[in-house]
Amino acid sequence: MDDRTRPSTAFLDHATAGITARMAQVTAPDVLLDAYPAQRSTWAAATEAADALEPALTELLTDLHAHPELAFEEHRSQAVLVELLESRGFTVKQGVHGVGTSLRTSYSTAGFDPARHRTVAIMAEYDALPGIGHACGHNIIAAAGVGAFLAAVSALTESDTDGRLVLLGTPAEEGHSGKEYMIRGGMLDGIDMAIMIHPFGYDIASHAWLGRRTLTATFHGVAAHASSQPFMGRNALDAASLAYQAMGLLRQQMAPSDRLHAVITDGGHRPSVIPETATLSIYVRSLLTDSLVDLSSRVDDILDGAALMTGCTVDRTWDVHPATLPIRNNQALATRWTDTQALRGRVAVPAGIVPDSLAASTDFGNVSQLVPAIHPMVKVSPSDVALHTAAFAEWAASPEATHAAVDSAAGLAQVALDILADDDLARAAREEFEAAGGTFSVAEELG
Ligand SMILES: [Zn+2]
Ligand SMILES: [Zn+2]
Repeated sequence: MDDRTRPSTAFLDHATAGITARMAQVTAPDVLLDAYPAQRSTWAAATEAADALEPALTELLTDLHAHPELAFEEHRSQAVLVELLESRGFTVKQGVHGVGTSLRTSYSTAGFDPARHRTVAIMAEYDALPGIGHACGHNIIAAAGVGAFLAAVSALTESDTDGRLVLLGTPAEEGHSGKEYMIRGGMLDGIDMAIMIHPFGYDIASHAWLGRRTLTATFHGVAAHASSQPFMGRNALDAASLAYQAMGLLRQQMAPSDRLHAVITDGGHRPSVIPETATLSIYVRSLLTDSLVDLSSRVDDILDGAALMTGCTVDRTWDVHPATLPIRNNQALATRWTDTQALRGRVAVPAGIVPDSLAASTDFGNVSQLVPAIHPMVKVSPSDVALHTAAFAEWAASPEATHAAVDSAAGLAQVALDILADDDLARAAREEFEAAGGTFSVAEELG
């Protein structure tokens, strides 16, 4: 790479220095099991169970890592998870809630009454990326989720709490919206709250994830000979070009965490023919559901304007795969997560330490807009290793990955047990969720 094409690292360097400085200010919460007298025995049991699972979880995440499968094709991964769960006495349903490579198992206490007791879902992803395998570390998510479920069940059987634990295998996250399909197939019916982790270069209790919509826009004009009768044409590529320029100009007026990406996938075939059609593929992202809707409508206006200016028409298809929504991190649950991690020697930093601008999108956002939820990030790599890189894929099968999976299994199990047992926590989480606007359904609000 010569100097002209080498991107400046100045912003990233400052961002990283800022993160490092803010991280240094965060003091590890001084949490002792004694601070949780009601949970003392279940938390200890969950931790003990998670630690005992280390060999099984190591084998699981290593196996999935060695056999990466793409969205909707995770048959082998599904089978590996099912085998592990069945070997421990659980009955597992496969292909539930409308997605063939999903799975579901649950455990209810003998006295469980859905009218009086709570149900918590622990989610496990296991899809990989084309070409670079488990570069998003979903093999670790699977191990953490399965480990959390097993550890929580083990602790719950020894307690006098009533409730239900559900493990949901949720495939097809990468580039798709597997969880939204499963939501439409009833995945969250009877679920009070949902939790999962994601591996990363930092331990973060609440990280920003942007909502994302996809849009395909095709302009239709009139073909004409570009030299002999150009005045008889209507140039669809001009329309696509104007829409592309207008999105570029709109960026100055967008909220800092909004994102617009577009490529022209069809712009005609030959300079001597005025293009009859031209197509743009567009992603629209935003930090909040409301701002996602607003930004979508500005893009709609741009398409209409470009069509009007050029005498073309435009067809548009929003969300070929259902939209993914921003994650609404529940702070009541995130704080509890932070305490569980402190017991493991991890400092899960709160929101605001890592900037919201360093954000991608996930279909767990849709879950978090329907029930109180957390999606903490767990450190498995050096902080300068980005998700979706070959380097991160290597870290996803490292000893650090195993440590992260076991720590996460313990922490998720502890939070799950508290959701069932701690009425004050459950009430606070629910009230916070309602105060943030209650439910937002992609199927109802965005079609
Ligand atoms: Zn990813
Ligand atoms: Zn991911």
